[in-house]
Amino acid sequence: MILYNSLGQTKQEFIPHNGNKVSMYTCGPTVYHYAHIGNLRTYIMEDVLEKYLRFAGYDVKRVMNITDVGHLSSDADTGEDKMIAGAKREHKTVLEIAKFYTDAFFSDCKKLNIKFPDVVEPATNCIDEFIHMISVLLEKGYAYPAGGNVYFDTSKLDAYYVFGNINEEDLAVGVRDSVEEDVNKRNKTDFVLWFTKSKFDSQELKWESPWGLGYPGWHIECSCISYKHNGEYLDIHCGGVDNAFPHHTNEIAQSESFLGHKWCNYWFHVLHLLDARGKMSKSKGDFLTVSLLVKKGYNPLVYRMFCLQSHYRKPLTFTYESLDNTATAYDKLLKRIAAIPNEGAIEQDKAVTLIASFRNALDNDLNTSLGLTSLYDVIKADVNGATKRYVIGEMDKVLSLGLLQAPAETNHATDDALTAEIEDLIAQRTAARTARDWATADAIRDKLKEMHVVLLDTKNGVSWSIEK
Ligand SMILES: [Zn+2]
Repeated sequence: MILYNSLGQTKQEFIPHNGNKVSMYTCGPTVYHYAHIGNLRTYIMEDVLEKYLRFAGYDVKRVMNITDVGHLSSDADTGEDKMIAGAKREHKTVLEIAKFYTDAFFSDCKKLNIKFPDVVEPATNCIDEFIHMISVLLEKGYAYPAGGNVYFDTSKLDAYYVFGNINEEDLAVGVRDSVEEDVNKRNKTDFVLWFTKSKFDSQELKWESPWGLGYPGWHIECSCISYKHNGEYLDIHCGGVDNAFPHHTNEIAQSESFLGHKWCNYWFHVLHLLDARGKMSKSKGDFLTVSLLVKKGYNPLVYRMFCLQSHYRKPLTFTYESLDNTATAYDKLLKRIAAIPNEGAIEQDKAVTLIASFRNALDNDLNTSLGLTSLYDVIKADVNGATKRYVIGEMDKVLSLGLLQAPAETNHATDDALTAEIEDLIAQRTAARTARDWATADAIRDKLKEMHVVLLDTKNGVSWSIEK
């Protein structure tokens, strides 16, 4: 298989470290809010990669962390802790927030046919491991204590910017996000391995450590959790491209300084999902979730197909218009497949040829849109029905679009203008509440009341009904 490797920025043949076994690591969610569909694009494409590696005969072990501590609102270790912000917003404890949004995340994944990873490890399970790795980094001279925290010293590395594509703009973002400059840092790219109470007093979860009562930085958790479950050599590390710097750059700095050798050979980065306002993000108020798509009448697998229609290394722009086009295509596809009679005996030679064209597409840097084309070719192919159904079933092991299911009639968006208006108002109210703009939130609630809409705040978000 040929994959684009962010390390080296070229397409390379994928060769695992240990024969047939593939160790794979995925940065998991920070469980302070629902995942938006832009985050989920990354998990969908990672799922396709994992399933394709299995399809190609590899024995994959995929590990994912759950960030339930230590991720600050800026990825560059500054600002408020995301988990604490979530807990405050919802008047819950950090652990309640973590449990609720972890469950919500995996529920979304299930709806999108994303396989559950082989290992899922919350950061709060691994405090001893973090302390061990940080101690070794201190012993080896790669880290230093300052002002109550422990920092990684990036000046000790031969090369820090390993992905080679860090531009001044990215660095400027890092600097801009730093509300106040951290005077403890020796170099501006140094980052925190362990915080103590000397800094964020509002931190709810703290643990004893050789450096005082405190909590780990965000980056150390992925280095440790990967090492804990996949050992010294990682074949492939996945994540959204916005994590390449500083998060993945810092993971490499820590892991390789700790191990004393190269750690991970292949880096798989999925590009952003864009909407009319640019890169989709939770900080922009209302954001698109799987639940919202379902409420609007979409089958979540339509969104999965929407993602598969484009290449993971290209930014993808989301509009309801294009999702509607995919919904129509998905409906038609399911109906065409359902109409294929299960007749005859499977023609093995022909099946192998049809599957080969699918494999060629995915072998070429996971070209899923070409993979979908080869699926349509199967429907048109001059082979019997049993062979077609068999080949489609094989392809669906990777695509996971429920292709052999009976087609449902619910894949279209409802064109009920009233529903859309109510949903928009609820999203605006949620955004206002998140921004603590109670006046606006109350005004919207009153407006909804006038429309005879009854709101119910449930654990799965806001549900509504029309008063009879
Ligand atoms: Zn990570």
